[in-house]
Amino acid sequence: MNSSVLQSVIVPETETLRGAMLSFDRSALRVVVICDEKRRLRGIATEGDVRRALLAGHGLLAPILPIANTNPVIGRTDMSRQELVNLLSERVYFLPVVNEEGIVEDILSFDKRTTIPIASPTVGERELRYVTDAVLSGWISSQGKYITAFEERFAEFCGTKYAVAVSNGTVALHLALTALGIGPEDEVIVPSLTFVATAAAVRHCHATPVFVDVEAATWNIEPAKIEAAITPRTRAIIPVHLYGVPCRMDVITKIAKERKLWVIEDAAEAHGAEFLGKRVGSLGHAGCFSFFGNKIITTGEGGMVVTDDEDLNSRLRVLRDHGMNPARRYWHDVVGYNYRMTNLQAAIGVAQLERWDQIIAAKDRIREWYDANLPQDLFEIARPTPDMRPVCWLYTVLLKDTANGLSRDSLLHALREKGVDCRPIFFPLPAMPPYFEDDWENRYPVTRRISEWGFSVPSSVELNWYELERVTGIILLLSGVGIEKESALHDSAGHLKYFP
Ligand SMILES: *Cc1c(COP(=O)(O)O)cnc(C)c1O
Repeated sequence: MNSSVLQSVIVPETETLRGAMLSFDRSALRVVVICDEKRRLRGIATEGDVRRALLAGHGLLAPILPIANTNPVIGRTDMSRQELVNLLSERVYFLPVVNEEGIVEDILSFDKRTTIPIASPTVGERELRYVTDAVLSGWISSQGKYITAFEERFAEFCGTKYAVAVSNGTVALHLALTALGIGPEDEVIVPSLTFVATAAAVRHCHATPVFVDVEAATWNIEPAKIEAAITPRTRAIIPVHLYGVPCRMDVITKIAKERKLWVIEDAAEAHGAEFLGKRVGSLGHAGCFSFFGNKIITTGEGGMVVTDDEDLNSRLRVLRDHGMNPARRYWHDVVGYNYRMTNLQAAIGVAQLERWDQIIAAKDRIREWYDANLPQDLFEIARPTPDMRPVCWLYTVLLKDTANGLSRDSLLHALREKGVDCRPIFFPLPAMPPYFEDDWENRYPVTRRISEWGFSVPSSVELNWYELERVTGIILLLSGVGIEKESALHDSAGHLKYFP
């Protein structure tokens, strides 16, 4: 609880009903915490308690204490966050938290924000309106005006000629690889640090992913190490714009051109990011996107392949739809898939694209906040070059090993205990059973380091300033900065600003 919010719900024992009502207005919390002059708890009163008292004939200037709950359920500061949250219910809606002297240190309320999520979707009235329109139109399957609109507008968004909507980001990658003819015997170059779907899609083609380590600056595939991984069997490279930071596509596409390789961008985490003024997805032969619930733009589940290549566009469409010949219904020239998106998902996608400016502005504000508030002597961030315009998918940092001997995992555990949902970076792909390589630690040292120390912090579009302040406050406190820079964490009265 931010100290100013706590201050605004605390009232003295002599408070009146009128004073309590003014406090509800000030704090926007529907409760007052009645304390003695030492801030020891005497009782709590909710807006409902005050309303019932007024209806029962108490005057506005009647004292609050007689109508308050003087024996409320309380939490103690030595309880874990989880223990405290467990005490909350519809009935125990507000939970004052007191220290061993009975002094109020925090107040928790039973609403869905007791844990700050890492990335929740921002969907609202516009999405609802378009989905409702799609339902009422009867076009709820994989044809309809929203599919066409979403494809056209997404192509325009990326600066490509074509966009093909599919059911998720993984099949977007599989479809692109298949349409480019990747199959058994082929090798595809993939970064050793990415979400597993990049490599799984290669395996779905019965081809072999060949890993290349990432670079320390951007955490993306190291272009200088690509050459050494190319063999006569190499057919394609999949650069992944990890966490919204673009890859060095100029170098990658140059190598690909010289060695006659396809470039399929995995832009699942980077909608709208740019390299040298061009949007990601438009920089290779094909670009693949995901619209999973936690991605920058969502359709619930969903994906897209974008390209400038007319033939590739046609092959993608045929393969997406059971390999059916577009000129001859139910005639199948090739084995295809059912990878279609529904009109309902596309309706959400159109609404999300129309809200792009709002989404990206919020994401930029979140990045600026963390940049300014997480100290660089403790946390390292990816360093895009000036020719890159990143988008903040999940704000992600590396805990420096100088951070007071704290391990990444103990920090994450403590953060979760305190109701802040954080997430470790992906494991190195060659460390996991399906992709295992002996000696991966030495072959992919940069991936290993980032994977060991990295974690993402809450980055939802709808995070408010209180929540951002709370997240950074708790991180600072846990990582030991709170001990050295105590002043930053205490209010003028010397009380801890963030309930630790
Ligand atoms: C999310 C993601 C995918 C897969 O997308 P889904 O829609 O979940 O199948 C692929 N690659 C990367 C890098 C991702 O983050």
